[in-house]
Amino acid sequence: MRNFTAELEQRKQAGLYRTRRHISGPQQPVLTSDGKRLLSFCSNDYLGLANHPSNIDALRNALPETGLGGAASHLVCGHHEAHHLLEERLAAFTGRSSALYFSTGYMANLGVISALAGRGDTVFSDRLNHASIIDGCILSRARVRRYAHGDVASLAAMLAETGGHKLVVTDGVFSMDGDVAPLRELVAVCRRYDALLVVDDAHGFGVLGPGGRGSVAELGLSEEDVPVLVGTLGKAVGTSGAFVAGPAGLMDYLVQKARTYIYTTAMPPALALATCASLDLVEGGEGLRTHLQGLVERFRGQAVALGYRLMESRTPIQPIMIGDNRAALALSQALEERGLLVTAIRPPTVPAGEARLRVTFSAAHSHGDLDCLIRALAECRYSLDAGSVA
Ligand SMILES: *Cc1c(COP(=O)(O)O)cnc(C)c1O
Repeated sequence: MRNFTAELEQRKQAGLYRTRRHISGPQQPVLTSDGKRLLSFCSNDYLGLANHPSNIDALRNALPETGLGGAASHLVCGHHEAHHLLEERLAAFTGRSSALYFSTGYMANLGVISALAGRGDTVFSDRLNHASIIDGCILSRARVRRYAHGDVASLAAMLAETGGHKLVVTDGVFSMDGDVAPLRELVAVCRRYDALLVVDDAHGFGVLGPGGRGSVAELGLSEEDVPVLVGTLGKAVGTSGAFVAGPAGLMDYLVQKARTYIYTTAMPPALALATCASLDLVEGGEGLRTHLQGLVERFRGQAVALGYRLMESRTPIQPIMIGDNRAALALSQALEERGLLVTAIRPPTVPAGEARLRVTFSAAHSHGDLDCLIRALAECRYSLDAGSVA
């Protein structure tokens, strides 16, 4: 039998051991973690809607009407009118013909990729795509070709030499780097080489584009340009679940074939209604997005002035590049001693030698919160150089 204990020990030695902290109370910038108050810069609640009173009211008001449990899968007797309402709302919101409501983004990607590609087909996947896309590719049993991050020219070369059915999959906003995919160029090569484009906009949806419609809408790309649009509802939308939107025929195909849609219990219908309410806040959230953008720009200016290495990102995902696993962990710990929560991201989530602190901003952060972060980063800067953050 494999020695699992020894593997855990190895992980600890390599600075790769993962632990979970216990949070109590709602998700918001000031968290209670193991009884301690911490100012957090690591959630994906980009618009501060996870604890918004009107979303909580919407859920509370929906419960007596719909009850709690989803009770059955969509194809048996679980497809509640509340789910249908949300799917129609999502289709209208994204300017797509049709949408399907999935339980999680992870399941949406698994289901979509494995339904739309199979044995004998080829899936082209950006090297920095999210784990759920990577797993969806494996599950599909298609041949998988990974292209260098954002490198449309190398993708085009691969597409040119490949026959048969081709699927190209990309994050809209990359979850660990915060940069936006070259979507216009991807649309053009997919059209040229007859490949089906799938964009997972988990981190762009709610944040970028008009009304928060995402990175695809920001460029005015239509359903013809991006036929398969995936978005998640647990990040900027602040509730839970995910969706896939696109042409009605394709969505119908997914209802027949996407196993993570078919073989799972429908989400609590009340949650779908609360998500509809939250989408109203997202759509009308221009003020939130302007404030968020202001925080991001100020952070970039001040962190660079302190000598930190940032990445090319204009989104609320602002990684501070460190490199060494233990140095990243030490900086994260030094910040925590100063009352701040910023997670160190290490391999295998990011490539080896690219450990980083992943700072994320929310519209719920104040400029005072950002002052606290900058102050702590200034204090830790010296010790980071000295090689012993403390
Ligand atoms: C978070 C994330 C997912 C998974 O979504 P969940 O709803 O949390 O399962 C999928 N894709 C990307 C790019 C993500 O960042």
